[in-house]
Amino acid sequence: MRYSRLFLPTLRQVPSDAEIVSHQLMMRAGMIRKLTSGIYIHLPLGLCIIKKVETIIREEMEKAGAQEILMPAMQPAELWQESGRWDIYGKELLRFKDRHGRPYCLGPTHEEVITDLVRREVRSYRDMPLILYQIQNKFRDEIRPRFGLMRGREFAMKDAYSFDVDEEAAAKSYEKMFDAYNRIFERCGLKFRAVEADTGTIGGSFSHEFMVVAETGEDAIVTCTKCGYAANLEKAEVHPGYARKEEYDGPDAPMTKVSTPNVRTVEEVTQFLSVHPGQLVKTIIFETSSEPVAVLVRGDHEVNAAKVKNILGVDNIELADEDTVLKLTGAPAGFAGPVGLSIKIIADRAVEPMKNMVAGANERDFHLVGTNRGRDFEVSEFADLRLVTSSDRCPRCGMAMELKRGIEVGHVFRLGDKYSKALSSVYVDQDGNERYTIMGCYGIGVWRTVAAAIEQNHDKDGIIFPPPLAPYQVEILPLQIQEGDVIAAAETLYDQLSTQGAEVLLDDRDERAGVKFKDADLIGIPIRVTIGKKSLKNGEVEVRLRSTGRTEMIQREGADRVILDMIRKQLS
Ligand code: ATP
Ligand code: MG
Repeated sequence: MRYSRLFLPTLRQVPSDAEIVSHQLMMRAGMIRKLTSGIYIHLPLGLCIIKKVETIIREEMEKAGAQEILMPAMQPAELWQESGRWDIYGKELLRFKDRHGRPYCLGPTHEEVITDLVRREVRSYRDMPLILYQIQNKFRDEIRPRFGLMRGREFAMKDAYSFDVDEEAAAKSYEKMFDAYNRIFERCGLKFRAVEADTGTIGGSFSHEFMVVAETGEDAIVTCTKCGYAANLEKAEVHPGYARKEEYDGPDAPMTKVSTPNVRTVEEVTQFLSVHPGQLVKTIIFETSSEPVAVLVRGDHEVNAAKVKNILGVDNIELADEDTVLKLTGAPAGFAGPVGLSIKIIADRAVEPMKNMVAGANERDFHLVGTNRGRDFEVSEFADLRLVTSSDRCPRCGMAMELKRGIEVGHVFRLGDKYSKALSSVYVDQDGNERYTIMGCYGIGVWRTVAAAIEQNHDKDGIIFPPPLAPYQVEILPLQIQEGDVIAAAETLYDQLSTQGAEVLLDDRDERAGVKFKDADLIGIPIRVTIGKKSLKNGEVEVRLRSTGRTEMIQREGADRVILDMIRKQLS
């Protein structure tokens, strides 16, 4: 490709609404332009990289035995009503009516559509295992679209779905996809971790997320420093031996009410009453799709809403707003407590051994000290309901753990019979009995993967593309475009490399060298070949690796072979 013909509008300035480096660089390198919030246009360079990721995905999916299909973005509401998700998916689901008033949505994911296909077409145990996938745009009306392609409202996803005769076979399909995901992200040049994850609204029994480790990641992950345990913070289990009982020995104190004017937060209460946060119990009120519930956690812990949701087995949970807290506890937020509360109370395990606790009094400007479970209030259930902290121990091996940030680029789920049951997708087994198909689903955020690759591979000058994702492997940069020798050498090398199958960009623009070097660094092509008048007199050209900055003079004669060799090495 000749740079002069390429639609590649680079920017020198950082766009003001681009908060993270991948978003900034994708804008500056002329890969994307914003149409409106969370919705982007892909320009030639950006599209080229997306296609590279798609090719890697397709190759690995085919290797794993998955077959490509294409499903519609527009989906009838009936299917979502059948699965039960029409009511629980919430505002992220873009809903609309056609001219006849029939309700539809734009697919945020395709479990319903694919289960509908399979219930009609797959009737025998002989038709399975079956894995189908597609690469297609998804629509989610995200509450906070941000970070460019990382969290858009329209984005490309590779979604695959597996169908098996039983759980054992489904476990094999899951493993195949899990391995394929490892290969895909390795080939994309990413540093990533597969972590145990919560199953969210997709549902199902078991799942892993593939996390690209990056400071700017929206997810928190926990990894053990010794064994292989790694989990999303939402999912991470607390080591059961962590709550130490001995700290709470001693006689029960009488419960007394103390005035705590305007003292609401844990910090304020502990300072005001000169107590340790571990002596305080926090009472958090949640509204759920069934009844409201109060959750107790120790003052120095944070509640984990995903764990609360799972323990209650409800479809939705949300922190209660100020008005609801007032209605349910009789006091504004900050003064809620378990004593005298008439709603269901559940508590984190660390609360179980606590004695003589400080708690809100359910009265404005008052707290209770010396509260004790059994005497002053009851808890209906204890469970692991809090977030892991960096001082927690690994739930598997007991060693220290680390908290990191990650970008979720992929997600694999075992769905069991959740959707096949809801949509009656059955097959006939060997003995002639009807049984539900056992499903799995597997997503990759294609555009997010590109953004994550840039988030992990850049320097102050621009992008450093992992070679398998780079739009071109080589950029030829003639310094003096008016010099016949220089341009002839550049053109010859361009032809030689192109005819031998290399992806080459020739910067044939009549620009100053400084401008060309800046753009070359910005768009991050792995190998740059600079051709200048002086070195050409000695029969040499300069080769520079974008990743290391290392430069080397090589003979003009035979330069194509040397460069092709470098490309091969980089891609292997
Ligand atoms: P998140 O927690 O980031 O919202 P999710 O759990 O909703 O993700 P899934 O439903 O598992 O995501 O979707 C599969 C993959 O699609 C994700 O792993 C992610 O890579 C990608 N993805 C999800 N939402 C978006 C989005 N708004 N923009 C870009 N990619 C997305
Ligand atoms: Mg989401």
